[in-house]
Amino acid sequence: MSSKTADTGDKKINESTAKEFSSMSSGVVLKNIIKRFPTREGTGEFTAVDNVSLEVHTGELVTLLGPSGCGKTTTLRMVSGFEFPTSGEVLIGGKNVENVPPNKRNISMVFQNYALFPHMNIYDNIVYGLKLKRMKKEELKDKANKIIDLMQLRGMEERFPSEVSGGQQQRVALARAVVIEPKVLLFDEPLSNLDAKLREHMRDELRNIQKTLGITSLYVTHDQSEAMAISDRVAIMKDGKLMQIGTPKEIYDQPGSRFIANFMGKANFIEGKIEGTDGGCTVIKVQDSPLKIPNPGKVQLSSGDTAYMSIRPESIKLSKEGGVLKGIVKRATYYGSKIEYCIEIGKDSLIVEIPNPQLSVIFGEGDGVFVDFDMECIRLLKD
Ligand code: ADP
Ligand code: MG
Repeated sequence: MSSKTADTGDKKINESTAKEFSSMSSGVVLKNIIKRFPTREGTGEFTAVDNVSLEVHTGELVTLLGPSGCGKTTTLRMVSGFEFPTSGEVLIGGKNVENVPPNKRNISMVFQNYALFPHMNIYDNIVYGLKLKRMKKEELKDKANKIIDLMQLRGMEERFPSEVSGGQQQRVALARAVVIEPKVLLFDEPLSNLDAKLREHMRDELRNIQKTLGITSLYVTHDQSEAMAISDRVAIMKDGKLMQIGTPKEIYDQPGSRFIANFMGKANFIEGKIEGTDGGCTVIKVQDSPLKIPNPGKVQLSSGDTAYMSIRPESIKLSKEGGVLKGIVKRATYYGSKIEYCIEIGKDSLIVEIPNPQLSVIFGEGDGVFVDFDMECIRLLKD
């Protein structure tokens, strides 16, 4: 499809549709949410969500990111009303929704498995929620048409879900979710069933539509690159707890712990001992040499603490001579746009990424190399 026609065609629809959404105040607030389930043996309780407080502002997309089992879906289900908090409050549009059933919360959900009705064609799938609202025929048609154009589903209205691709099915699911103009959209790993290329394409589309319509969204994924690509802010979860929340850049640049640094990208850690401060820098002793770190990050550290220097793979340089540390190339993997090296330094190993391999010296396994990094790029972490 020519993107030009799509652009000019979409604009009119986008402006009028966006207006309908932007008039709502629809922030989501979670206040000290705890969810406990009885254990399977029935002898005790298991805390799936552990005192999570979080705010999604009107029109914002916040992603819950964390490993499988950390409590993301359970948190989402408490916003939808399909699960009740053991304690704590959920507010939607400033209103406590404790006594509001799921179908009255003015939310829509999009799932991994699309959950389309197989016996209904695409059009009927899309307008299902509008029919439930007993909307007048003319209005229903008008709304459906706008969404069909926005989602680029024109021409497919008569087909059944099994007759369109996975990407198109997910667009239908999204169309069905947004056509009822919900206050809040909830996404639970909506792209996990798509292959890698389509997943990247769909996440851009999804983000575009969410921004165009300005719908407040809470999005769940375990995929960090997806989280970075689509989110205004990301909330990192682990073992039911919210570990850190911030923009993708804030979290990547200022992770609060080794777990977070590793979950949001790759990181290397070198252990040392904090010696104190010197002219605005934090001094850490690593392998008998004191290093001055000018921009250590936000973690509170005191003299005598064991701490970890966190260095991103792309912040490290390799050369034949001259650097902070000396090492040996253990592994070199060529990825086209970059080379990834594993460098052994004493007992430790470092992951190093060199972009544009065409422009740099390529080292082989077993080569001796010097490792260098800018102290500005190092963050200090406590745990
Ligand atoms: P995620 O979506 O991050 O993978 P979930 O929120 O689905 O994690 O689950 C968090 C934890 O709570 C898991 O250990 C899961 O087994 C448990 N859990 C979820 N739902 C229930 C339930 N209805 N009964 C008991 N345990 C549950
Ligand atoms: Mg889940």
